[in-house]
Amino acid sequence: MTGAPALRFAIFCPGFREGCAIRSDLRRHAPRARRTAVALCAATPPTQQTVGRSVTLVGQGVHGGRSARLTIAPAGADAGVVFNVGGAAIEAHWSRVDASKLRTRLAEGGVSVSTVEHLMAALAALRIDNALVLLDGDEIPAMDGSARDFVSAIDEAGVVTLPARRRRWRVVKSTRVSDGAGWAELRPAKAALHLDVEIAFASPVGRQRLSLDLTPETFRRELADARSFGFLGDAERLWRENLALGADLDNTLVFGERGAINPRGPRFADECVRHKMLDVVGDLALAGAPIIGAFRSYRGGHALNIALLEAAARDGALTPEFEGVRHENSTAAARSLSGAIG
Ligand SMILES: [Zn+2]
Repeated sequence: MTGAPALRFAIFCPGFREGCAIRSDLRRHAPRARRTAVALCAATPPTQQTVGRSVTLVGQGVHGGRSARLTIAPAGADAGVVFNVGGAAIEAHWSRVDASKLRTRLAEGGVSVSTVEHLMAALAALRIDNALVLLDGDEIPAMDGSARDFVSAIDEAGVVTLPARRRRWRVVKSTRVSDGAGWAELRPAKAALHLDVEIAFASPVGRQRLSLDLTPETFRRELADARSFGFLGDAERLWRENLALGADLDNTLVFGERGAINPRGPRFADECVRHKMLDVVGDLALAGAPIIGAFRSYRGGHALNIALLEAAARDGALTPEFEGVRHENSTAAARSLSGAIG
């Protein structure tokens, strides 16, 4: 077979140049199989990935205010993301969440790790399925309040493909949770994680809404740089609750009555809703595998995001499947593995 059919396929499949696992099949069957292949192939390879080497970041926790050293290290296929806090392992899974007010905290065996959401978002959006995250404190460093430094660290480490198919969750029925003031829901969707997030705060933030399909590219461009935000008037109340003790103008977009008080102002006119969506990506990553479905929230937050995952799992709204394989063929094969990613 000449290279011509495969070359044509590259036009249809953005993942081709990155080593799409079905390209060898295409060389054999193209162009007859091209239409089928386009339906099967995602923009990145359907095999699992980890980081190429260890990378370390040091910074201050936004809530505890303590400095910590964080290392993202490679892990094998099917390991998932596991935190190692002072020698104790904590699985990055919604069932380990023990606090969700203004941040997501995981706990296992009496040890906890707080504010995992921005790191989890970067790992999930850049399609790092497996990683060991070593931490010498109890809170992930806030860095600049966004996921920018975590994305840079993963880029610096590089990405390694592992010899195992990526598994994922497909939303097969709608699930909705509400806390009275806001709500969050998951509905079936064809081929992506579609996100639609709306927030409603008093002036000067007001109402903001954003929707997009999550890909590594949309995450980098639209979400990764959006910082945590807060309100000057809330500071003393949060400090009394031992929250936001490490928040400052270098890691939080802070709003006064007339607007942001950070010297350089917001990075985007709608930075707040972008950050809320970044938080959603990080919280949904606690499903343990990518989700194919449509997420929507109004006045949501960490507590609703985690409650939604819990409700979806309880209601049987998520079905496991392998990425890159037709849903109906994949589900049966992946079902036996559901415990490993559920
Ligand atoms: Zn956040």
